[in-house]
Amino acid sequence: MAKKVRIEKDACIGCGLCNASVPDVFDWDDDGKMKAVVEDVPEALEEAIDGAAADCPVQAIIVE
Ligand code: SF4
Repeated sequence: MAKKVRIEKDACIGCGLCNASVPDVFDWDDDGKMKAVVEDVPEALEEAIDGAAADCPVQAIIVE
């Protein structure tokens, strides 16, 4: 089963790092925070998404 990705909005500080590294998955929401524009992690982007999750300064990117 494909992994899922989501953003914990309460935790996101809107630094923009994840959008800069994986713009096909992470995009700005109207509230100045980030949203995941896909729920299922595409296999080709799995490594990049895991990297973005590891690099998020507040651990707001949840991959499970
Ligand atoms: S890297 Fe983390 S804190 Fe920064 S915009 Fe993305 S989810 Fe928000």
